[in-house]
Amino acid sequence: MITLNRKVCLLGDFAVGKTSLVRRFVYDLFEDKYLSTIGVKVSRKVVAMPRDDTTIELTIMLWDLADSQEFDSVRVSYLRGASGAVAVCDITRPSTIDGLYKYSRDLRANNPGAHLILAVNKIDLADQRAMTAAQIEAVALDLKAPVYLTSAKTGKNVDDVFRHLGQMLVTNAAA
Ligand code: GDP
Ligand code: MG
Repeated sequence: MITLNRKVCLLGDFAVGKTSLVRRFVYDLFEDKYLSTIGVKVSRKVVAMPRDDTTIELTIMLWDLADSQEFDSVRVSYLRGASGAVAVCDITRPSTIDGLYKYSRDLRANNPGAHLILAVNKIDLADQRAMTAAQIEAVALDLKAPVYLTSAKTGKNVDDVFRHLGQMLVTNAAA
């Protein structure tokens, strides 16, 4: 058994569902009220990942910036040492795509080898959907990131996002 410990940052605009996705993945919970935190919240989840003929016990340290915290003012310390990130946008608000370009640039500028995955969140709000499949594919292609349509509310595809990123983190990773 090999154990690895990796830092993963949540990236995305205000209220896209970053904190809710972490809560869903780590605790399998969803709260429909606003979750206000201060500074950075770090949550930990251990997942077993197959690699070659063995199993890697991967500890994912999930860094989630509080809403009150200005990303720009803490960007360098927030991203320092991150092996990966989940970039999140809100399917009901196309404007939340714009920031993803900046966040992914910042991530890769600070950590050239970092892995990125895209979560287009709130797909349970089907009647408010404001992004087409083609738009979403284009963004994923631009960001060179796998993409999942998620709902922190129902749990749809949430595990898949983090497990896929986990798989990227253990592939080619030095033990
Ligand atoms: P953050 O600012 O990116 O951390 O966003 P939060 O996780 O705090 O979520 C912002 C708001 O969106 C809260 O009211 C959440 O309950 C709501 N929310 C988050 N994810 C979902 C989702 O998948 N579906 C729906 N319907 N609401 C969501
Ligand atoms: Mg939050």
